[in-house]
Amino acid sequence: MASHKRIPMIAGNWKMHLTSKEAADLAAAMKKGLDPDLKHEVLLAPSFTNLHAVKAAIAGSRILLASQDVAWEEKGAFTGAVSPAQIIDAGCTHALIGHSERRKIFLETDEVVNKKMKAAIKAGIVPVLCIGETLEERESQKTYRVLETQLTGAFAGITPAEANRVVIAYEPVWAIGTGKTATPDQAQDAHVFVRKQMERIYGKDYAEAVRILYGGSVKADNIDELMAQGDIDGALVGGESLKADKFLRVIHFQAVLSR
Ligand code: PEP
Repeated sequence: MASHKRIPMIAGNWKMHLTSKEAADLAAAMKKGLDPDLKHEVLLAPSFTNLHAVKAAIAGSRILLASQDVAWEEKGAFTGAVSPAQIIDAGCTHALIGHSERRKIFLETDEVVNKKMKAAIKAGIVPVLCIGETLEERESQKTYRVLETQLTGAFAGITPAEANRVVIAYEPVWAIGTGKTATPDQAQDAHVFVRKQMERIYGKDYAEAVRILYGGSVKADNIDELMAQGDIDGALVGGESLKADKFLRVIHFQAVLSR
């Protein structure tokens, strides 16, 4: 049963798409289409180079800004990396950390993810920690083991107080960008498991309060049934977040739930 206290979050991951003008136009369309009475948190994660333009476009709205990654060092000779202070300076309150594309393509380990979590938290950035199993892992019944390892690794050495605002995104890798969404039951099962793991790590109160988003081919036409699940507290959306009308429909989901 979903807690009334968990405020839904819908986040758009724009990946390596859009010029700064295109990103600003899309952000402006989101701002224009947002129901002023909506209480959900809405988060946009454009490329680093588009953060300033999007920040200007969403000014005066309740839309929040996230980076798609963050460095674990504060400053120095780290060519190509962007520090926590730099993303705050660009207007971010949140950072995606450990997205499966970063893990797979850029070889990020749980240790790297953990360092980024610590650096973000220290700087006052809210991490949106991404976890999820591959198809091979799911088919060989390793899903729970993978999620447990990723969570244990990501939160290693982080106190409950430090972990307080972290948002978790469960994103089965086989569902990202493939058009294959986990069924609401599959997603709900994984979310219950993730919540149990968070109870093991930080206790019941934490587990009840932590928001767990689902990601993986979320669309305007499947968001309602996903959000009707008691442990799905929001969505991290890739492809569908690049289309203003579709993403606005996702944000204004119609799930009937005791939330
Ligand atoms: C993502 O990038 O986190 C994602 C879930 O992508 P898509 O919605 O396109 O599957």
